[in-house]
Amino acid sequence: MSLQNPLKDLTRRSQKRKLKTAAKQRFNGTCAYCGSVPRFLTLDHVVARSKGGFDVRSNLVAVCRRCNKSKGSRLLWEWWQASPWWDEERAHQLASSVLICKIKGTQ
Ligand SMILES: [Zn+2]
Repeated sequence: MSLQNPLKDLTRRSQKRKLKTAAKQRFNGTCAYCGSVPRFLTLDHVVARSKGGFDVRSNLVAVCRRCNKSKGSRLLWEWWQASPWWDEERAHQLASSVLICKIKGTQ
């Protein structure tokens, strides 16, 4: 947090909150990856920030902590299709709102 420009920090924080709310609503409060209804949803970067992913709506999904932790910075489809929570229908739903990634094999 910078002391020079607290207003900017505030704006960024409220933007993040808006992103989070929108991400949660997209899947009705369920985890976008496994479909569970966790007590807390966390924001996951579909493309990890360490891999160049941005803080934008199309790159953020609300997921449970288990999925977030399990996925880490791996590529979403790689991780998801190998996980026990793979769900094609949800994947299509997600793919329609997340622009950056493509489902493996649908290219
Ligand atoms: Zn989950």
